[in-house]
Amino acid sequence: MPEGSGSYLARLNPEQRAAIETTDGPLLVLAGAGTGKTRVLTTRFAHILLTGRAKPWQILAVTFTNKAAREMRERVGLLLGAPADGLWLGTFHALCARMLRRHAEYAGLTQGFTILDTDDQLRLLKQVMEPWRIDTKRWPPPGLLGVIQRWKDRGLTPARVTPAEDTDFANGHARAIYEAYQARLLQLNACDFGDLMLHVTEILRTQPDVLAQYHRLFRYILVDEYQDTNTVQYLWLRLLAKRPDGAANICCVGDDDQSIYSWRGAEVENILRFEKDFPGAQIVRLERNYRSTRHILGAAAGLIAHNADRLGKTLRSGRDDAEGDKVSVTGVWDSDAEARIVCETAESLRAQGHSLAEMAILVRAGFQTRAFEERLVQTGLPYRIVGGIRFYERAEVRDAIAYMRALTQPADDLAFERIVNVPKRGVGPAALQKLHAAARAAGVSLSVATAQLVENATLKGKLGEQLGKLMTALATTRDIMARDGHVVAIEHLLEESGYLDMWRQDRSPEAPGRLENLKELVRALADFGTLGEFLEHVALVMEHDENAQEARLSIMTLHGAKGLEFDIVFLPGWEEGVFPSQRTLDEGGQKGLEEERRLAYVGITRARKQALIFHAGSRRIYANWQPSMPSRFLDELPDEHITRNDEGGMRHRGLHSTDSVFANGPVIARRRRDPLADDATSLQLGDHVRHARFGVGIVIAADRHHVEIAFENAGTKRLLSSFIEKL
Ligand code: ATP
Ligand code: MG
Repeated sequence: MPEGSGSYLARLNPEQRAAIETTDGPLLVLAGAGTGKTRVLTTRFAHILLTGRAKPWQILAVTFTNKAAREMRERVGLLLGAPADGLWLGTFHALCARMLRRHAEYAGLTQGFTILDTDDQLRLLKQVMEPWRIDTKRWPPPGLLGVIQRWKDRGLTPARVTPAEDTDFANGHARAIYEAYQARLLQLNACDFGDLMLHVTEILRTQPDVLAQYHRLFRYILVDEYQDTNTVQYLWLRLLAKRPDGAANICCVGDDDQSIYSWRGAEVENILRFEKDFPGAQIVRLERNYRSTRHILGAAAGLIAHNADRLGKTLRSGRDDAEGDKVSVTGVWDSDAEARIVCETAESLRAQGHSLAEMAILVRAGFQTRAFEERLVQTGLPYRIVGGIRFYERAEVRDAIAYMRALTQPADDLAFERIVNVPKRGVGPAALQKLHAAARAAGVSLSVATAQLVENATLKGKLGEQLGKLMTALATTRDIMARDGHVVAIEHLLEESGYLDMWRQDRSPEAPGRLENLKELVRALADFGTLGEFLEHVALVMEHDENAQEARLSIMTLHGAKGLEFDIVFLPGWEEGVFPSQRTLDEGGQKGLEEERRLAYVGITRARKQALIFHAGSRRIYANWQPSMPSRFLDELPDEHITRNDEGGMRHRGLHSTDSVFANGPVIARRRRDPLADDATSLQLGDHVRHARFGVGIVIAADRHHVEIAFENAGTKRLLSSFIEKL
């Protein structure tokens, strides 16, 4: 043990230290946001190593995102003074992917199996559903995929789905289709994301030798964000943690107030089950928050106090500089103004010396990002969309990856189907059917069948010639890969298959960018030892985050922001129907609303120094402008921690310079509980009115909150009365 290595403990408070030094036996750390749970886990990792209790590869550490895994690897490396390699550290999915590669044969796969993305899953499911002749309008395939995914989240293989578990989805055929879908995946030597957990858990359940092997390997298990584990993850953990000798060195950290994935099958009850499953478990509570200022904490605490269903925790500031700015709540005219003001604020904060890397815009739903993206592109502020929706989702990148999959996985029909006619090779639906028929008849995959047809010269004319070229390109690429490595090989493949030429000849304005992306993709390949490693990486990052070195403003969903922290956090769209979401409101239950509130709590507690909340008076949903009401969560924020920039002032000051509310500096005013109530009677049928966007019109109908107005130039609209100026 290096001298002075105990110093890493000195910077922790006594409770944190207890959580780290209680290395043996089951331990649950239950604590609020920013109390150092993740830090405890990281330090514990290092502590176990530094005190010689285990070798780096004997610790299993589960994080919630790839980004968190990266950070933990770095932090452990820093504490150890050397880069940490060969660790079992990653997301549930990444860890399971690695395990499944080792034991693929037990799941009916071979080691080189493909991990499908959502598009492929859906395409495959549609094919599998065909024989059932399901009315897909009534039972859309994505819905069925959801049902299957929920079963997988619960650790249910088709055989484990009891008739009682079967839903009436797809007229009661869901289980049967699930079974067929799984069988088809095995034929393709592929699995989907949910299968990674499902297969491995099933192997651990049924193969005592394999389980024993991991019991010998993993001396310690560490789990972050434990409140968001679902059933299959929980089963997996329990199998690995419960050793035959009764020892269970498992440490889980979590916060019930941050449980935000129940829609993906997470069971906050796993926290409550911990003590039952691991008798003698110790529970440590951490109460000092080291992340946020006092006002940010106060606002978050006041909000979450509105939830009834809580375990209950204390949270107080652990920072000395802790007062800070109040959380600001700003009302703006519409979603365009919101995007503009958020971006302008970010820019001026940057001018004051804040790094963009320390700012984030956290949205409730994906659709919200577009307005910000457009603004940021216009103003030239560097940003990144966190969540993998950018680079690897682009069509040309996906095509190129399909080429790679077709290369390494001759059984991967989905990949082959994607590329067989890209660029155009005369493979229309009829030709494709012919290929499929040949594959079925010979009991081989599409690409093998195509190769045979080419060889026998069964395919005539242009089709035969073109497919011949493709098959030759694939074959020569395999040779080159063996000789010169995967980077050179893929360059060759994209060239010889005619794929690059397709974009070179494309005259659309996007084509040069696409070629750039393909170049970048080949560049990225070089970071990986083999093509297989790269493809695995792609499958995993597609699911979650991306990395970027340059200082950029981050845009991400609230769900994606869990566990992260930023100096400045922008929280736009706090309106009824956006946040809480329309879906939650439609469902109408308390449970859904409480989960939305936890999400709001997660959002506010990401901020170290400033949290800025926004709500817009109207919002463009597709082509239409719709009036919107401030979120109920705004009323739940305690006044003493909030600065409100009252949008009500907008109306009295005139409708045109809405942004001046902000430009004039914060206007501290209490927002009315129901901003509409006092307007309800002020507008009457026949009144002449003006609306900032739609111009002048006449009121033709009115109820308590809404008015219907016939505008001179904008047709008839139903609007919130609070944004109408009476003439
Ligand atoms: P979340 O619930 O959001 O995941 P968390 O409980 O995991 O939060 P961390 O991210 O580990 O909290 O810690 C929050 C911040 O507080 C980090 O910047 C961390 O470095 C810092 N921190 C944690 N413990 C201490 C401490 N004892 N002294 C000073 N700073 C600390
Ligand atoms: Mg954390």
